[in-house]
Amino acid sequence: MAITGDQRLLKRINRMALVRLVRSQPGLSRAELSASTGLTKSTVSLLVQELIDDGWLREDSVLVTGAIGRRPTPLRLDGRRLVLIGAELGVGYVRVVSMSLDGEILYRDDADISVGAEPEVVLKQLADMMAEHINKLVDGGREILGIGVGVSGAVQEGTGVLVVAPNLGWRNVPVKAILDASLQLRTQREFPLFVQNDGDVAALGEVEFANGAVGDPLLFVGLGVGVGSGVVVGGRLLLGTRGFAGEVGHIQLQRNGPKCTCGRMGCAEAYFGLQAMADIRRCSISELRQKAAAEDPQTLEVLAQAGRHLGVLLHNLWTTLDPALIVLGGPSCRLGKAFLQPARDMFEELAQEARLEIPPVNEARFGELSVAVGAAALALHELLLPI
Ligand SMILES: [Zn+2]
Repeated sequence: MAITGDQRLLKRINRMALVRLVRSQPGLSRAELSASTGLTKSTVSLLVQELIDDGWLREDSVLVTGAIGRRPTPLRLDGRRLVLIGAELGVGYVRVVSMSLDGEILYRDDADISVGAEPEVVLKQLADMMAEHINKLVDGGREILGIGVGVSGAVQEGTGVLVVAPNLGWRNVPVKAILDASLQLRTQREFPLFVQNDGDVAALGEVEFANGAVGDPLLFVGLGVGVGSGVVVGGRLLLGTRGFAGEVGHIQLQRNGPKCTCGRMGCAEAYFGLQAMADIRRCSISELRQKAAAEDPQTLEVLAQAGRHLGVLLHNLWTTLDPALIVLGGPSCRLGKAFLQPARDMFEELAQEARLEIPPVNEARFGELSVAVGAAALALHELLLPI
């Protein structure tokens, strides 16, 4: 019997549903998968065997309990063969990580880029780094499942065009098309490649590589030179009509406040973006870090003031989205308690005035790698949700 396109899609959906179930509940047996999905036992057996052969799942050793009869074989994600590549296109740097299916970081690379460099030059450098990872992985017997890229700007989903990135000074750059062509040239192969905003991918990283279930909606707030966010609701990203959702760095905290890179005055980013904080202290970003580490009183006051503004933003986002979990990530988190504690205190204070309890506020699971890891998670997310 000929397999139609519809059947192929249905099969893909069923296969990925099984992977998602095993990922969220490691150790499930074929019978339990059948009970959870409503698929027949023979269909599940067939699909599980394919998933084992393709490197998605593996059988765990069966616990000997002493009971009589054949015991079900527990299934887990197989981290040995399939690999995801994640890249971050940051302000002043690019970063690439290779990750196993079960969330282990295999390789990582960073490189500085000059701010103001042409998009083509930067993207070719990024393609070189990715190609190096691909060659190393393939030589080691691994298989590349997909590639994700997180960029600090608004991205049009589907086309992978970076619409606008104020901190890079880029507009309408076809990031996906350039990377696709550059990678094909370097590896003679094509890969599924996805591009999305850095805050969005970091939010996905918290969900896709979590050990078990995480709060939903999940709000990730990325704190760096730019301030952005990502929201995962019902297991999917909230992107908005133009991919601009979550650009919280440009929420107005004060009309006619300090000038922001976007052209407006009084944006959140102009109060506690990393560059903005350094400017307020009249020093460079690296000097700001050193002064913070040395507990310079003037710097601590700048960070405390900035942190309180962050607390107001967190409160406003919380009242808008009612997230079950808030995650803070990005390079500014390295400024530590001097910046983050005043933010938590302000958030708590505002909530208490309304006699409400705030949700947990965690720091990003993968620290400074949260965008690169999140980009790998984006590729996984797209593959696990075929429609
Ligand atoms: Zn702004």
